[in-house]
Amino acid sequence: MKVRYFDNAATTKVDERVFEAMKPFLTTDYGNPSSIYSIGRETKKKVEDSRDIVAKCLNAKSNEIYFTSCGSEADNTALKGIAYANKNKGNHIITSKIEHPAILNTCKQLEKEGFEVSYISVDKNGIVDLEELESKIKDTTILISIMYANNEIGTIEPIKEIGQIAKKHNVFFHTDAVQAAGIIKIDVQDLGIDALSLSAHKFHGPKGVGALYVKSGVKFNNLIDGGHQERSKRAGTENVAGIVGLATALDIAYNSIEENTKYLKELRDYYIKNIEEKIKFVKLNGDREKRLPSNANFSFRFIEGESLLLNLDLKGICASSGSACTSGTLDPSHVLLAIGLKHEIAHGSLRVSFGIDNTKEDVDYLIDSLVEIINRLREMSPLYEDYVEGRYELDEM
Ligand code: PLP
Repeated sequence: MKVRYFDNAATTKVDERVFEAMKPFLTTDYGNPSSIYSIGRETKKKVEDSRDIVAKCLNAKSNEIYFTSCGSEADNTALKGIAYANKNKGNHIITSKIEHPAILNTCKQLEKEGFEVSYISVDKNGIVDLEELESKIKDTTILISIMYANNEIGTIEPIKEIGQIAKKHNVFFHTDAVQAAGIIKIDVQDLGIDALSLSAHKFHGPKGVGALYVKSGVKFNNLIDGGHQERSKRAGTENVAGIVGLATALDIAYNSIEENTKYLKELRDYYIKNIEEKIKFVKLNGDREKRLPSNANFSFRFIEGESLLLNLDLKGICASSGSACTSGTLDPSHVLLAIGLKHEIAHGSLRVSFGIDNTKEDVDYLIDSLVEIINRLREMSPLYEDYVEGRYELDEM
């Protein structure tokens, strides 16, 4: 059966050009960048060229880019690294309730170590409350960490405004841009960002490599001790092929961002329009305008997300009911609860994340499959039967 992949927020397929660029560093050009002979010097140069590319894409300086093993490591390093290094200034951190577990669980760990964390609310579309954010800043606040775009509902946060608030109060600002990098143009200087995390596998690069931008002058501690790689900020022999893959993928994505955005928006909006027209009792989660061009997240009343996913899988469709990292538990998504959904509505949610390899024909197949599956599942739902027979009244979604 043909696989139709609509889970690009979980991970993406490596671009052929990226794979070709990586190949020599896994086969012929395998020198250790720390070695002084020529094949070592060549790989060292390639790592530095990759750093230049990443810096250029973000409008940063090359010495502000550090390669990591993933987005989670970049998030951990930003939060723990900045917190530990600036402990003398204060112990208070501000984040939001809808962050990825890479941020939320890091904050929980920091709380155990004596840091204080405030978790800011979001509105019904998932946008952080800027007034609450500013009101929480106090003398001991050292860091604000708010994600660029949410991985479940696709909402894009007011990053520039947050950067301005952080600057006004002399607080560092980190953003987890794992879902935004490669999809949205990011200018760290214009946006007032002090630290930013990204991950290659979200934009057609390989898994297991990420990058952290930290503005020069911002003190942060390293998490991995060892050799002097990454200017002593991240020990470990460089993942040269991965780093080359990350930079190549980011470069390709940045050079085609306008056309990709237009294409993804067309697919997304066509899907949203059809779902709202063809299926009753649905709710689009996240902001209609301020959302990633690739994301559509719907709640379907009277539907269990897991059965929906299994039925889609039988038709060769890959999608997600929550973020890849939190699925595996039966708890409803913390993001959907934070935007005010009731548990039973949150449970019936489906995240579709489009990619440039999707065609309109794929989207038609997805829409037709969803209409059929949802009608069938509702026919089997006792709650739906109660509603049809007037024994159950619908409240607002
Ligand atoms: N942050 C966000 C918003 C994510 O969506 C993800 C992955 O889904 C991560 C961090 C973690 O990235 P990685 O899988 O590279 O560790």
